[in-house]
Amino acid sequence: MQTDQHRLSYSQLSKWMECEAAAYAEYVTKTWQQTDRTAFMLGRYFEAVLFGDLQSAELELQRDIQADARVLTQKRGAATADRLAAEAAVVRARAQPALVAYLEGDHWAEMSCTIHGVRFKCILDVLHLERGRIVDVKYVKDLNRTWCERDGRNVKLPWWRAWGYEKQQAIYREAVLQTHGVACDTYLLPVTKQKPADYDLLGPFGPPGQLERILDDLAEPIARAIELKEQKDEPIRCEKSSCDYCRETRFISGPMEVRL
Ligand SMILES: [Zn+2]
Repeated sequence: MQTDQHRLSYSQLSKWMECEAAAYAEYVTKTWQQTDRTAFMLGRYFEAVLFGDLQSAELELQRDIQADARVLTQKRGAATADRLAAEAAVVRARAQPALVAYLEGDHWAEMSCTIHGVRFKCILDVLHLERGRIVDVKYVKDLNRTWCERDGRNVKLPWWRAWGYEKQQAIYREAVLQTHGVACDTYLLPVTKQKPADYDLLGPFGPPGQLERILDDLAEPIARAIELKEQKDEPIRCEKSSCDYCRETRFISGPMEVRL
């Protein structure tokens, strides 16, 4: 039976895959939440201005003030440096016709789909059904390859793979296929927070069939997330130094022997 508890989103699934203990505390026991919402709020504001949706941008500003987040607005109402940088990046991005063309379509299109028996909620940044195109806008630190830990080894990956965005693309493509019967090409449109900002337009992601294979590979992580959401097993701590939750809840029981 489908219940609301079974609902996942790409961002929630990626948190379960990153650190089970952190996701468990956030979504099951609701005892912990990622405190730094700076990147999230800034990203939303950036997209609102980029899409020319001034009402949404205004709403984002009001939310920021109400939440006392001070990500976008300083105490006396002045824009923060982050907000000015985002607006400057938008001005430059909108001056590039090749990028602007890929912003055409429905913005923040909401839909859901069923993947490996689980309901997924999706919000697509840009959906252009006639052109068969999904574009995901990313407001990111930079476009450099990033060191990541994979299977206990440190490897350097393209920025989008480090964040697992190919999985997000596979899920969004499937959502449009199930909702509208259209098999879309998927693109990433990153803009960096650097001064001056850098840009890219990546896609379509392929070769054909590859996104379907990525979707197939999600069967196990999805089943594991549901198992933990239903509290049928204990979540495992990732113990990575990069994990906010594991750092915050780490308990040192004593010294650890060092062998030289
Ligand atoms: Zn962790």
